[in-house]
Amino acid sequence: MEIRTYGDPTLRRPAEPVGAIDDEIRILCERMVEAMLRANGAGLAAPQIGVSKRIIILDVDGEFHVLVNPELIETSDEVEEISEGCLSVPGVDAAVGRATRAVVEGTTLDGETVRIEGEGMLARAIQHEMDHLNGGLFLDRLSPARRQSLLKEYQRLQREESS
Ligand code: ZN
Repeated sequence: MEIRTYGDPTLRRPAEPVGAIDDEIRILCERMVEAMLRANGAGLAAPQIGVSKRIIILDVDGEFHVLVNPELIETSDEVEEISEGCLSVPGVDAAVGRATRAVVEGTTLDGETVRIEGEGMLARAIQHEMDHLNGGLFLDRLSPARRQSLLKEYQRLQREESS
């Protein structure tokens, strides 16, 4: 499964809730895990492989979660700016302000409701992947000037790669 990159319309579409957790969803999740591991990511959202469904994977600090229909329950007021990147905008990163703590609730592939409380990098990954389900990308959170320069850099890298 190819990871979709900047410009792909699926990345900009709010993802649809998942109905039943059936074999189709389980196979989709396996493909997401494979794509994430191959790309050395710390998380992945289904739209990143072109499937507009509300599923995220988190793989941070030894914690691994597959969450179906995740909901962001809580974020701290305290924010920190740390550099982050995205498998869908490969090669560039930028400091993004994110809540230092985030709580997400979702359903596992076994149909269990779980609540995950993340701090630091896990909190960041939760917020980053939730953005994907709403059609967002980390660069939307940058100032317009910073975003422009990041996109220029990204496009330059893309041109170099294709030449
Ligand atoms: Zn991403």
